[in-house]
Amino acid sequence: MTYAEVYESGVKELERAEIEEARLDARLLLEYVCHTTRQDLLAHGERVVTEEEGRQYDGLIVKRALHIPLQYLTGVQEFMGLEFQVNENVLVPRQDTEVLVEEAVRFLHDGMRILDMCTGSGCILLSLLHYSNDCEGVGADISESALAVAKQNAERIGVSEAVRFVRSDLFSDVEGKFDMIISNPPYIRTDVIPTLMEEVREHEPMEALDGGDDGLFFYRRIIEEAPAYLNGGGQLFFEIGYDQADAVMILLASAGFKDIALVQDFAGNDRVVSGTWY
Ligand code: GLN
Repeated sequence: MTYAEVYESGVKELERAEIEEARLDARLLLEYVCHTTRQDLLAHGERVVTEEEGRQYDGLIVKRALHIPLQYLTGVQEFMGLEFQVNENVLVPRQDTEVLVEEAVRFLHDGMRILDMCTGSGCILLSLLHYSNDCEGVGADISESALAVAKQNAERIGVSEAVRFVRSDLFSDVEGKFDMIISNPPYIRTDVIPTLMEEVREHEPMEALDGGDDGLFFYRRIIEEAPAYLNGGGQLFFEIGYDQADAVMILLASAGFKDIALVQDFAGNDRVVSGTWY
């Protein structure tokens, strides 16, 4: 079969499975299998797909049709202009989270120590280290298998000298003081989880999503404990859900944080809340 034919059959399968971006995903998977680019489909649609490539492609289409996220099939996701490795043990890095990183990076200076609480793939911490000079990071996560991914990403991004990862139930095994604590904790309300896309609900790690009955479980715990781990003038940065700004800002204020700030994402949704500990 030709490249164009294989692609069209992939599109059809994904459309049948009601995959939202069937054309895009069918193309990206074909490019992944054949080591090609978008250009090849446009200019070399008659290129022959080998039997092995065809078999591999069909296998991936079957998996994508089961709503397994594309990134778990290709094993990578771009974030902050860097390529991160992902698998089913970590949340796929979201574009929303780039707003968190972009906001935090403005406050980094040489020599700062950063703690990323619930680091997952490490995408937040490793981007911060990549886009700053001479900072040092600790990534904490309860999931050993997530930390394995984060460690590989540290190598891949080339910042492993500057980072340590620790398996920790929130702060249980974290030591030392930090100038910045940053976190994208699980924040989806338990009763909202059944309404999430099948890709997220059935395939992404639930322990990275479920924020408890009111979605605020992890914010409460982190805000309560963070002061003991912050140097004077240290900042706490959170990604939040679109409807959580008031609640999280009140939690920060009640705990004694100052200079509380809110930043919106490109869609105009509340997305980042921060506060300073003096
Ligand atoms: N923003 C993610 C989502 O909508 C949730 C991330 C989180 O819970 N920290 O799937």
